[in-house]
Amino acid sequence: MEGQRSPIESGCPDGFQYMHPTMRKNYGNWSYHEDPRPGVLKHVAHGGEAIYTVRAGTQRILDVFTLRKLCDIGDEFAEGYVRFTIRSNIEYMVADGSKVEPLIEALENEGFVVGGTKNSVAMISHTQGWLHCDIPGTDASGVVKSMMDELIEEFKNLNMPNRVHITTSCCQINCGGQGDIAINVQHTKPPKINHDLVANICERPSVVARCPVAAIRPALVNGKPSLEVDEKKCICCGACYPPCTPMQINDPENTKLAIWVGGNHSNARGKPTFQKLVAAGIPNNPPRWPEATAIVKKILQTYKDNARDWERLNDWIERIGWPRFFELTELPFTKFHVDNWRGARRTLNASTHIRF
Ligand code: SF4
Ligand code: SF4
Repeated sequence: MEGQRSPIESGCPDGFQYMHPTMRKNYGNWSYHEDPRPGVLKHVAHGGEAIYTVRAGTQRILDVFTLRKLCDIGDEFAEGYVRFTIRSNIEYMVADGSKVEPLIEALENEGFVVGGTKNSVAMISHTQGWLHCDIPGTDASGVVKSMMDELIEEFKNLNMPNRVHITTSCCQINCGGQGDIAINVQHTKPPKINHDLVANICERPSVVARCPVAAIRPALVNGKPSLEVDEKKCICCGACYPPCTPMQINDPENTKLAIWVGGNHSNARGKPTFQKLVAAGIPNNPPRWPEATAIVKKILQTYKDNARDWERLNDWIERIGWPRFFELTELPFTKFHVDNWRGARRTLNASTHIRF
């Protein structure tokens, strides 16, 4: 209708306006790429034009001063174009190959680490943690910082049989990670309900509907509407806590970390694979999480020493078998690794129905 204002579109802006002109020009027309050194990619178009990408790790949650510093480096030493990868790396694109080395030097002088390409340990992708989210049981950013401090050489060098993607997740249900190695929260006890608060804070039907194993029932406690949990059924997933904070599930003793390995979304060489639990009940131990870091390092070292070139972690385990994996990594195989939950058959997503 004439005079009506056009709708405000939301969502991502068009990425083309931010692209380096060489990338825009050769979009969909790339011939091959090379890896001149760790942290640098060179893409060559069918027409012969080339573009270099220099990758540096960042801490993902960036303060404005660091962002300005990164942008200033981009203006001075690159060609004014950057992008962030899903694993919190910043990438600078330059068409002039002679700018690559000064750019790397400028980044390193400011304390940034260049790497994360090809067969390295890429930057760990992580969720929000204590800084931004209201339900975490650990701090994903803190775990990442502690681990990457120890894995810095693996980020900077191409020493792994193939690329390694690590993820962390600070609760058990939401953004969670799936990767070659995933460090995820593991709750080990049912939620503890503060009955005085439930009636004022929680929408009880939504909380009841949210439980994947139907363990929550409405109840009257001390004359007030509240909820109760059938602890025999509860699988300690923590899904009731976000919509109903009086159902506290995090605590310093019983909230642990678990490590899963072998997840791979890609179907480039084989089918995508689910990750499997290999270590459970690891202390959630800030500020450096030494126990979880030691296990991740042990798994990486074993993979590095034993896998064949180009085998991803899941391919390697597939070839040697899970018993051998536990033997080599010296991780104890316990009864908790066996998924014997009898409700699984009924409730696992085995159909295409959408569930809420
Ligand atoms: S993983 Fe969970 S706790 Fe962490 S940011 Fe996502 S929703 Fe929040
Ligand atoms: S923790 Fe999970 S399984 Fe237990 S009551 Fe809450 S939603 Fe249900």
